[in-house]
Amino acid sequence: MEHPENNEEYKGLTVNSGVAQPSIVNPYLQRGRFARRRLTAADYVEGIVKGNVTILGQAVTLVESTHPEHQAIAQEVIEKCLPYSGNSIRVGISGVPGAGKSTSIDEFGIHVLERTGGKLAVLAIDPSSEKTKGSILGDKTRMEKLSVHPYSFIRPSPSAGSLGGVARKTRETIILCEAAGFDKIFVETVGVGQSETACHSMVDFFLVIQLAGTGDELQGIKRGIMEMADGIVINKCDGENVDACHLAARQFQNALHLFPMPESGWLPKVLCYSGFYGLGIKEIWDMVYEYIDFVKVNGYFEHRRAEQAKYWMYESINEQLRNGFYNHPTIAALLPGAERSVLEGQKTSFVAAKNLLDSYFNLLK
Ligand code: GDP
Repeated sequence: MEHPENNEEYKGLTVNSGVAQPSIVNPYLQRGRFARRRLTAADYVEGIVKGNVTILGQAVTLVESTHPEHQAIAQEVIEKCLPYSGNSIRVGISGVPGAGKSTSIDEFGIHVLERTGGKLAVLAIDPSSEKTKGSILGDKTRMEKLSVHPYSFIRPSPSAGSLGGVARKTRETIILCEAAGFDKIFVETVGVGQSETACHSMVDFFLVIQLAGTGDELQGIKRGIMEMADGIVINKCDGENVDACHLAARQFQNALHLFPMPESGWLPKVLCYSGFYGLGIKEIWDMVYEYIDFVKVNGYFEHRRAEQAKYWMYESINEQLRNGFYNHPTIAALLPGAERSVLEGQKTSFVAAKNLLDSYFNLLK
């Protein structure tokens, strides 16, 4: 398909609405009436619901901001977008670095866009970004075909804050993307512990990319991936690696039988593919769509989303309590002394924690 940016008719327009809007290439570009004044929450919502990806990108930036004023607008925008959200298929894609996530997502994305039309947003949860302050996952340059596709929106992982904070922002971004008409959402994450749990808690289908012959067959079982995965796919099933991949697939399939039947009533499948050569991609998406049909009929689809909403309510409470506590200036001033007294053995961790919490709750009175 010709990219609309190369097409004179489309120059400077987004493709999904008749309204003249800035190019999707630079999501931060401001033009037109929105550039003349600061946007209100209503402006953001209007722009998002019309499918304006520039406004969407700006709203996501607000969601990611830690500035209280930005957060206040962001929360209002999210709330107003909620009624327009939910109408999508959310797929989590996890794998260790080098498993082939970006190569695969590029192929998967093009496949689902050609297969079902619509629009695709690729988001990410990257715990490493906490340390490096920069995120790699979801980087546009890693997805060559999708990055120039007119119906895709790629957003790297939010980089600031705790994993809980990063994950919450990704979840809120899902709502905004859905309100903007994105009916397919991929959430990419690195296959290491906590971030997978966070990703799992916001998607309808959790796809785990594995490699053959790395010992991951057993590690995966240990780490509880088997309980989370709705599908396990063995990548790089090409060249001399084909036999090893099929062997790994059998090992995973056997291991799956050791676990109780998932609540969804769906026994996860194990498939081999090659993201690089584009082999076996259709079968993976046949599986995903089969699952979605299955759980929509048996009611698990809605149940899982409701449970996720509940989970995020508690996560949100935890995050706000934690932030309120640590960001309180009096507490921040007391913390180094408390830390010292624990390190020097003058107080137990429990007593030091209790003293600090008592001080905090007294301050709130
Ligand atoms: P990520 O770190 O999980 O995003 O992995 P990448 O997509 O960057 O891929 C890591 C490396 O594996 C790159 O050198 C890819 O070219 C290679 N790779 C990815 N998919 C395949 C595949 O299906 N077959 C083979 N042989 N190599 C692949």
